[in-house]
Amino acid sequence: MAESKTERTCVACRQAKDKQQLVRYVVAPDGAVLVDYRQRLPGRGSYTCISVDCIQAAVKKNCFQRSFKGKCKSVDAADLQQQLIAALDQRITSLIGMSRKSGQFMSGTNAVIESLRKKNSLAVVIMADDISAAIGSKIEALVQKNKIYSVRLYNKQFIGQLLGKDERSVIAIPAGSLVEALLNELHRYTQLVREN
Ligand SMILES: [Zn+2]
Repeated sequence: MAESKTERTCVACRQAKDKQQLVRYVVAPDGAVLVDYRQRLPGRGSYTCISVDCIQAAVKKNCFQRSFKGKCKSVDAADLQQQLIAALDQRITSLIGMSRKSGQFMSGTNAVIESLRKKNSLAVVIMADDISAAIGSKIEALVQKNKIYSVRLYNKQFIGQLLGKDERSVIAIPAGSLVEALLNELHRYTQLVREN
């Protein structure tokens, strides 16, 4: 059975949106408000937009207390933002792991540069924050020329760890079934980190 689109309202700005476009929160047994990013935890849920503004406004205006009918502890906006970023992190690294297992994947500077020069079907390029300036600008130029989405994320060591290898400066993912989901999470992540 196809899941129908269900709208929920952001407790801060009161806009109704498809719940997939919102963050869900639940109250843990100890009263703490938890980010339920995958929207699978049981119990009453509250929602906000995936935005620092709405999270901060929800905390400032006591929207969580109202929505959970006073059954939650006091809430800290910075803590919710950290929980949300951690959930996005987990989602991104798991999507990278899935694309790697499905073979929709490329890593290493030479392989990625060669592939970009051949103008093949790469869809997402992820460069480490600490990629060398020379290689970074070389890839940046090719990415712009081919109009491919690229982002600087994590460091070489972390990317290497994701792949069970030593350091890796760049990974790339060709167009395919996982790209839409990955792009969605990367947009959310970069926007949140920028606003944070
Ligand atoms: Zn909102």
